[in-house]
Amino acid sequence: MSHNTKIAVITGGAQGIGKATALAFLKKEWTVVIADTDREAGEETACELGTSGMLKFIQTDVSNEEQVAKLVKQTVHRFGRIDALINNAGISISKPLESLSLEEWNRVLGVNLSGAFLCAKHAAPHLRKQGGSIINIASTRAFMSEADTEAYSASKGGIAALTHALAISLGPAIRVNCISPGWIETGPWQKSSRASAETLSEEDHLQHPAGRVGKAEDISSLVLYLVSPEASFLTGSNIIADGGMTRKMIYS
Ligand code: NAD
Repeated sequence: MSHNTKIAVITGGAQGIGKATALAFLKKEWTVVIADTDREAGEETACELGTSGMLKFIQTDVSNEEQVAKLVKQTVHRFGRIDALINNAGISISKPLESLSLEEWNRVLGVNLSGAFLCAKHAAPHLRKQGGSIINIASTRAFMSEADTEAYSASKGGIAALTHALAISLGPAIRVNCISPGWIETGPWQKSSRASAETLSEEDHLQHPAGRVGKAEDISSLVLYLVSPEASFLTGSNIIADGGMTRKMIYS
């Protein structure tokens, strides 16, 4: 079936930043395909945001090539095109180096980094036809660290490098950019069974040069900008959205 509206595939779109991004695309009258492992969250989001067939949830583990190939095939079969791929799915494990198993390391790298590679690989032929764009969600942890975050940090550094590699290989037909968020409060965007009443303290907010912790909408608005024609001179770039935290000296 061919489709006139633009199609965005958002991995990890059932909750958090990905869900906020799905809503932002829907508001611009795009059709959205959410690829997420979490069926409960995916169905809840499809129910909440999925008016008039503009949102489809396809249960997918992005680290599994067969499932990614199926995601792309089903998307193109149903909607005829892919205009944007948002590689947002991510997990983290925080554990001291010496107790981090190879399986745990491989799982984090498999979801966060190989997942983005696999989605780009399978979506590229369709994105090329539309002059589309890829947005990878990295993290400021690609560039600085707390202790015990080796797998997550390495996966995010990999995403930042994968972004420029893809931009060179896929341009000029496909633009590829990266966003590195800092601390983003995603509580309001979690599925109801995961929702918590945790509140942020004044200290949480005021340590940021921007005066507050980030919101999922701070990232979704950047995603929309990067896929738009206004950003047609941006490819291979990384935008840090962290309220200034990685620019702040912390000597005491
Ligand atoms: P989240 O946990 O709220 O949502 C992530 C979603 O990804 C979930 O719905 C989860 O089910 C899904 N997911 C997990 N593994 C998957 C897999 N193998 N295949 C498909 N889907 C999978 O996370 P979030 O905070 O919204 O983070 C989204 C992205 O932003 C991640 O890549 C994360 O590393 C990055 N990020 C978040 C922050 C932050 O402060 N929230 C900061 C920097 C970077």
